[in-house]
Amino acid sequence: MTFSAMRLLRESVTGHRGWKPLWRRPGPKPRYDIVIVGGGGHGLATAHYLSRVFGKTNIAVVEKGWLGSGNVGRNTTIIRSNYLLPGNQPFYEFSMRLWEGLEQELNFNAMVSQRGIVNLFHTDAQRDAYRRRGNAMLLSGADAVLLDKEKLRRMIPFLNYDNARFPIKGGLWQPRAGTARHDGVAWGYARAADRAGVDIIENCEVTGFRRDAGKITGVETTRGFIETSKVGVAVAGSSSRVMAMAGLRLPIESHVLQAFVSEGLKPTIPGVITFGAGHFYVSQSDKGGLVFGGDIDGYNSYAQRGNLPVVEDVAEGGMAVMPMIGRARLLRMWGGIMDMSMDGSPIIDRTPVEGLYFNGGWCYGGFKATPASGYAFAHLIATDTPHAAASAYRLDRFAGGHVIDEKGVGAQPNLH
Ligand SMILES: Cc1cc2nc3c(=O)[nH]c(=O)nc-3n(C[C@H](O)[C@H](O)[C@H](O)COP(=O)(O)OP(=O)(O)OC[C@H]3O[C@@H](n4cnc5c(N)ncnc54)[C@H](O)[C@@H]3O)c2cc1C
Repeated sequence: MTFSAMRLLRESVTGHRGWKPLWRRPGPKPRYDIVIVGGGGHGLATAHYLSRVFGKTNIAVVEKGWLGSGNVGRNTTIIRSNYLLPGNQPFYEFSMRLWEGLEQELNFNAMVSQRGIVNLFHTDAQRDAYRRRGNAMLLSGADAVLLDKEKLRRMIPFLNYDNARFPIKGGLWQPRAGTARHDGVAWGYARAADRAGVDIIENCEVTGFRRDAGKITGVETTRGFIETSKVGVAVAGSSSRVMAMAGLRLPIESHVLQAFVSEGLKPTIPGVITFGAGHFYVSQSDKGGLVFGGDIDGYNSYAQRGNLPVVEDVAEGGMAVMPMIGRARLLRMWGGIMDMSMDGSPIIDRTPVEGLYFNGGWCYGGFKATPASGYAFAHLIATDTPHAAASAYRLDRFAGGHVIDEKGVGAQPNLH
């Protein structure tokens, strides 16, 4: 099934009876060449690029719940490539470029909307740090504009520029950043992978790994044993639990991150605004809701719901930077489990178990990484060599002390 203006017209005059499910519902086969654990954005993107770029199609994606039930359907949809360090910036810019062609590639409306992101700054020192980050972005081929207070005021007049504690002095703007429809991205990748012959198996939890002489021979699941010689794990917030089944202890903690959506309002927010000093960021959805969030809950948890102190913290951040948000009513809120790595940067690497590959540690930032993460993970699984853009994301960097000391990533557990 492809989407086109003609198809839409035909379906609308024939009662929309011709639409088919976007992917099949197969049961697991006894053997696959590759099994991907986790049907979130990263697992599905990996399956898509394995088939499209590397010609592998005897693949299963096993998902313990339903597609979109994890963080891919829970995030606040921001995509950007405004990082600083060489290990990160080219990777996220690679991802931005994949986003820019994604809807055409998948023939799926993922609602990629490049309305820009502004990171506010409040001191001269912060401005200098943002100038440095903007220059690093330009060097990697990304776009960046440093806005002074007057230019920013013309763009976003309603901010509280004269806040006593955090007066706004300007912002770092990335015009090509923006938002995408989070669960739509999962559906688009799922449909493309399914069409290439990948089996997407929902309600199928991996409960163990079988090994023989240190090599993977298959996965135990709630729907039976599946034989395979290559397993790619992309389970985000469940990373520590799943990898523990293979005897591996990861430098990752799981924390809850909450998201909030207000009632629908007329178009107000031009793109994404982040207030890092006060832990608040906001954008506006196409339906008009203000979509906002802040910091992680400060304790480890696998519950997909958050706690009230962070609600208060986010509300205070919102009131400090745009007091008119106090007039909007909150429509809903939810939480997702974040796989917080100890340096705030991800891991895409082989593991000491032969045939077992790991993708995780995405912290706040895995949604924007979805296309590049899937591409790089597919490259690693297919060729057994890291993709150039993801070569810094080694698992052994924590043991060797070569952590990626990035400041553009958002919250990190080691800073709490
Ligand atoms: C509130 C919130 C806001 C966020 N905002 C942003 C943002 O604006 N921009 C951004 O870039 N990032 C954001 N993120 C982070 C981003 O959503 C994640 O980093 C990213 O989605 C993680 O990758 P994923 O999509 O593959 O994860 P998931 O969708 O969580 O996929 C992992 C899947 O693995 C499955 N699984 C777990 N254990 C097993 C098992 N044993 N067997 C089989 N399957 C299993 C889970 O059910 C799940 O479906 C946000 C996250 C949250 C929670």
